[in-house]
Amino acid sequence: MKNGIVKVKTTPSQYPQTRPSTQNNSDVLIIGSGAAGLTLALSLADQCKINLVCKEHLTESATLYAQGGISAVLDKNDSLDDHVEDTLNAGAGLCNERIVRKVVSDGPQSIRWLSDQGVCFTQINGNQNTEKQYHLTREGGHRHRRIVHAADATGREMETSLAKHAINHPNINIHEKHIAIDLITGRKLGRKSKRCLGAYILNKTTGNVGVFGAKMVVLATGGAGKVYLYTSNPDIASGDGIAMAWRAGCRIANMEFIQFHPTCLFHPQAKSFLITEAIRGEGGRLRTPDDNKTFMSAYDTRAELAPRDVVARAIDHVMKKSGAEFVHLDISHKSKDFILQHFPNIYARCLDFGYDMATQAIPVVPAAHYTCGGIMSDACGRTDIEGLYALGETAHTGMHGANRMASNSLLECIVFAAEAARNIAKTLPEITLSERLPEWDESRVTDSDEEVVVTHNWHELRQFMWDYVGIVRTDKRLQRAKRRVELLLTEINDYYNHFRVSSDLIELRNLAVVSDLIIRSAMLRKESRGLHYTADYPELDHTHPPKNTILTPDNDT
Ligand SMILES: Cc1cc2nc3c(=O)[nH]c(=O)nc-3n(C[C@H](O)[C@H](O)[C@H](O)COP(=O)(O)OP(=O)(O)OC[C@H]3O[C@@H](n4cnc5c(N)ncnc54)[C@H](O)[C@@H]3O)c2cc1C
Repeated sequence: MKNGIVKVKTTPSQYPQTRPSTQNNSDVLIIGSGAAGLTLALSLADQCKINLVCKEHLTESATLYAQGGISAVLDKNDSLDDHVEDTLNAGAGLCNERIVRKVVSDGPQSIRWLSDQGVCFTQINGNQNTEKQYHLTREGGHRHRRIVHAADATGREMETSLAKHAINHPNINIHEKHIAIDLITGRKLGRKSKRCLGAYILNKTTGNVGVFGAKMVVLATGGAGKVYLYTSNPDIASGDGIAMAWRAGCRIANMEFIQFHPTCLFHPQAKSFLITEAIRGEGGRLRTPDDNKTFMSAYDTRAELAPRDVVARAIDHVMKKSGAEFVHLDISHKSKDFILQHFPNIYARCLDFGYDMATQAIPVVPAAHYTCGGIMSDACGRTDIEGLYALGETAHTGMHGANRMASNSLLECIVFAAEAARNIAKTLPEITLSERLPEWDESRVTDSDEEVVVTHNWHELRQFMWDYVGIVRTDKRLQRAKRRVELLLTEINDYYNHFRVSSDLIELRNLAVVSDLIIRSAMLRKESRGLHYTADYPELDHTHPPKNTILTPDNDT
């Protein structure tokens, strides 16, 4: 083990085959069924055979829980230049302007494509005979109203509409409750070419590991919020794609930029239920819980409409200063009708927990929300490995820089999936499917008799990442975290080498790798920029031009 990074357990060429072949081939293997994976699948399905794999049920994804919406320039007072400029401002010098312009320019056509797939966004005229005019909301960092939404459950509307089409398409073969373990590359098979040839995938229902061969493999596995104790992300968000790509030899960029959403409902049973920024966009105020005072204007002139990182840090500061476990978010000055019309789901959910938003403030805390960094990929989603693409939150495209602007991420998923589809469709005819790939080998492992190692390490990891690598960092805290993650990586690797894989073990192994990447990236950045704030270097470093943090795997020789 070098630099604390777990190497792959078994290179299949080392060990004999133990099971009859179960190879499942397709033209394109898509790992992940959120906005990115489904958009790609639907864009390609008329031209080729697709295996679409997801860890849980088809729709379980971060996409499903997106509330606010998807950004696009549709208002006559808005312009592409303004959207580009707002995105670059949020990105604090690290966005790739070419990529930003491409994504922003494709916004209106992405909304049209979604609408053609049956996604029903909230309209202001509601008249089917007139041209659609969407209701646009405003969120932090956007200077105009440009968020297209489906009430406060945009992601659910998008995910379920796209999933319906995928289920009905004869060329899309869906594998639910299947978790990818590792990519199969030529390099791992001892060949010269490091082309991606497929993946090993555990069927969570049967416990069998299958070989999925493909001409092209796409990682659309979402983010890594589960690295942290408090997160708005669903359980699937364990950074699997980033860890798999890293082990396979891809570079990973900007992992120190983790966005903390300022407002998740604080309640023991709420499990990080997110309260959309649109509430602040529509006039919601943050208040101290003890004396009910607003505080945001003391931290930023934009007050409640400041970007997320500023709001999250302000809340963190207020909480740490007062010892409070939460702050209050108050929109009770608006009428009940207004709240029900704009936030029906959030209103109902808060009511379930005993809070009536129309008459009282609700308790909120920040939580890990979005992974800005990820697998380095180009304008078509191609990674460092031939035949391997990365799309959506798992990718680093240069769109978000040091800080993602709200509602730009769903747009990025759609635009890059469409671009990757064009590139894949063009390239597929030149590729022949690889011969039979080696089976997964379990001849040297046994069933675990110490599951406690997995549960203990899972909690320990997420706790120290929250305490030491959270909203405010210091060199000392990062060093502490580094020592702990190295120990955990050794332990987890050892466990992984001796026991049969399980879903929890696969995720824990990936969480540990991703944590290590976050810590190492944070240690390399000796300044505070965008989402990375360190008390030891509280200012921007003006002595050098802004630079991405790029980690290259040791095995990439
Ligand atoms: C609560 C919440 C609210 C949000 N609100 C907004 C918003 O309003 N606007 C906006 O633009 N963005 C929002 N975001 C961010 C946005 O939802 C995500 O960035 C986006 O949905 C990511 O889409 P994706 O397709 O990349 O991944 P996801 O939608 O997360 O899908 C990941 C897929 O990968 C699969 N997967 C993961 N690992 C494996 C594996 N090892 N094997 C097999 N399958 C695997 C999962 O099962 C899942 O199908 C929000 C995020 C959250 C959590």
